[in-house]
Amino acid sequence: MAAFFQRLAKATPTAFTAAFNSGSGHSRSAFRFPIGALAAVSGGISYVYYHSSVSDPVYLDEIKEEQTGPKVALNPNKWTEFKLQDSARVSHNTQLFRFTFDPTAKLGLDVASCLITRAPIGQDAEGKPKFVTRPYTPISDPESKGYFDLLIKVYPEGKMSQHFASLKPGDVLEVKGPIEKLRYIPNMKKHIGMIAGGSGITPMLQVIEAILKNPDDTTKVSLLYANVSPDDILLKQKLDLLAAAHPNLKVYYTVDNPTKSWKGGKGFISKDMAVKGLPGPSEDTLILVCGPPGMMEHISGGKAKDWSQGELSGILKELGYTEEMVYKF
Ligand SMILES: Cc1cc2nc3c(=O)[nH]c(=O)nc-3n(C[C@H](O)[C@H](O)[C@H](O)COP(=O)(O)OP(=O)(O)OC[C@H]3O[C@@H](n4cnc5c(N)ncnc54)[C@H](O)[C@@H]3O)c2cc1C
Repeated sequence: MAAFFQRLAKATPTAFTAAFNSGSGHSRSAFRFPIGALAAVSGGISYVYYHSSVSDPVYLDEIKEEQTGPKVALNPNKWTEFKLQDSARVSHNTQLFRFTFDPTAKLGLDVASCLITRAPIGQDAEGKPKFVTRPYTPISDPESKGYFDLLIKVYPEGKMSQHFASLKPGDVLEVKGPIEKLRYIPNMKKHIGMIAGGSGITPMLQVIEAILKNPDDTTKVSLLYANVSPDDILLKQKLDLLAAAHPNLKVYYTVDNPTKSWKGGKGFISKDMAVKGLPGPSEDTLILVCGPPGMMEHISGGKAKDWSQGELSGILKELGYTEEMVYKF
């Protein structure tokens, strides 16, 4: 099991390599084996059940889904416990976590959405547990059954991210959701620009995968992805593979601390990078932004205190984009 997950983490990209070879609809086929493999590890009976062609339970599942809708694991009104199957390091400060649930259910999340996690961290004056809650964006295919993956940057002083880092396989995490951020509709815009910093890549990946796995979606995507150093770039191999296989996806990286051999951009995302790398202001354009507060200020202005979109400022405003053309995650 550990070996399997290490492989998955390394790569997250590798799982997708197989997928590219199978063309559109790749995510489903790429993940079908792991689900079977996981079931096989956690119990031979489930494996036989999932793959048996005699009673064809997959087919029966599909009929049931048509009649009743798919079973979903998330509940927006109730904290639900999900078991950590395994975790693996993907960079010096970021880890991939896989949580499991009923293998016949989907997570129940539309693109683009996040979920809320909570953990008892510390105690109040009466000795009762104090809960910390934080939102995270799953990066697994929303159609996957039985599991979801979170990519989490672990901060030295971070309450929830340190809690994640302390979890062991078999431990549970309380989750509620989904929380819908931006309802993505295929072909809603001709060209989507994205600006992401560090772990702000996770909602972008959700949208990118929704577009690329749908053969009827012809949206172009241009991603500018900023990080501290080349080693900090998350999911680079996966993004590069996706861009190589899909001409409608372009990715440009920039780092604050380049190495000698670095070939991408240098420093913060600049006006020049935005002009060259993003679709220009237009009704057919949407620019998605997600990153740390400093970057948000610089690019678009942060969100308002009540978490609404807030005023547009920064580079995007200076370049002529309007509030309707920009979405801040
Ligand atoms: C909609 C949404 C989706 C998100 N999805 C993800 C995701 O998929 N993966 C992910 O890793 N995070 C994601 N985040 C961020 C996440 O919710 C937490 O804010 C983050 O994990 C830090 O929480 P913490 O409790 O560990 O740190 P806190 O206890 O809140 O902060 C402690 C210290 O950590 C540092 N710190 C915390 N956050 C940042 C930051 N953004 N930039 C720089 N320093 C920081 C600061 O020094 C801070 O003082 C998302 C946020 C939102 C709003």
